[in-house]
Amino acid sequence: MRRYARITRKLPREIVLLKGLPCIWSRCTFCDYLEDNTEDAQLIERVAREELAKVTGEFRRLEVINSGSVQELTEPVQELIREKLVAAGITEFICESYWAYRHRFEETRRFFGVPTRIKLGVETFDHHLRNGVLNKNMVFDSPAEVAALTDTICLLVGFRGQTRDTVRRDVDLMLEHFAYGCVNLFTPSPKTAALADQPLMDWFRTEYAGLEDHPNIEVLWKNTDFGVG
Ligand code: SF4
Repeated sequence: MRRYARITRKLPREIVLLKGLPCIWSRCTFCDYLEDNTEDAQLIERVAREELAKVTGEFRRLEVINSGSVQELTEPVQELIREKLVAAGITEFICESYWAYRHRFEETRRFFGVPTRIKLGVETFDHHLRNGVLNKNMVFDSPAEVAALTDTICLLVGFRGQTRDTVRRDVDLMLEHFAYGCVNLFTPSPKTAALADQPLMDWFRTEYAGLEDHPNIEVLWKNTDFGVG
């Protein structure tokens, strides 16, 4: 497993994949990265020390992910990150958080002290697909409600039940309401393979190839495209 990488193409940054405590929800049907979660706080801290030591601050931007939410990193690890942000001169920090922590987003930003973008996995703005198919347990009334919480979201493309129209709507809403976005093409694993819609992914690759040119929208054609995982 590679846990440190430099992203040089778009929004240049260093990225580290840390280990965290188990995801508070752990029930999304498409999620196959929970195996990296652990209850072992010492292991979580050891991995964090090893990987954060590689961060040089060369881009002044750092992303930390942990197969869950940033709030699921132990307190000592959150402290280590905060210290690293200062020591490496980081001016933009990026992390991920699940919907259940939305009332703590401001607290999280305050804690890290530098401008902090919280990536929220919306996956789709279609209520039925998000909750009935993906089991995301994420209910909101409008994209504006989500946009009031964060300017950065993730979408998931290529799972069964989605159509070209729902994907077009999702991308339109992302571009309309959010400054930053990450579109993840569904990467099936043995556990989630039945959920994949390969023809839809093939269509998306052609139809939305132009997203590569958008300065703030990243497309992960496979889930290791950031160089970690
Ligand atoms: S909230 Fe995130 S980490 Fe937790 S089960 Fe869903 S996709 Fe996986």
